[in-house]
Amino acid sequence: MGNPLLRKEAKPFTEEEIISEETKVLLEDMWDSLEEAGGIGLAAPQIGVSKKLAVIKLSEESDRYPDMETSEAYVIFNPIINVIDRELQGFWEGCLSVPGLRGYVERPRKVRIDFLDENAKERTIEVEDFLATVFQHELDHLIGKLYVDRMEDVSTLMFEDEMILQEVSEEEIVD
Ligand code: ZN
Repeated sequence: MGNPLLRKEAKPFTEEEIISEETKVLLEDMWDSLEEAGGIGLAAPQIGVSKKLAVIKLSEESDRYPDMETSEAYVIFNPIINVIDRELQGFWEGCLSVPGLRGYVERPRKVRIDFLDENAKERTIEVEDFLATVFQHELDHLIGKLYVDRMEDVSTLMFEDEMILQEVSEEEIVD
């Protein structure tokens, strides 16, 4: 947080760029970074690349989120997000770009995402509940937004150590 690149709108990929060798290397780098950090999602601007790419995988091996549902590995280029259900749901969110902190954020509970996959094929998915929040958090990174911007009540911002002391449920946390 504080790096201007995290506050910029990222640039879209061309189809040629998506299937290029350079992007394959970038993707490997992103999956490695995500695994190393024990996170569940990562956007390219978080590793210094201002391009519209995010990866998401709810993994059982996540150290940060031990008791979580799992998901397939999503590779998301040039996403367009639409809200399907405006009803809000709240989770305690964290971010690898805002280390050591968590904050309570409410977001729409169901969204549709139109995007290109790693073969530059058009795909549409609908996600709800926890996964919907994860997608909204990661795709926010591609338009220069951080979860702290989405907090209704900044007084809920707290250190992870303090969360453990306060016994806030781990299940309600996102990356
Ligand atoms: Zn984040």
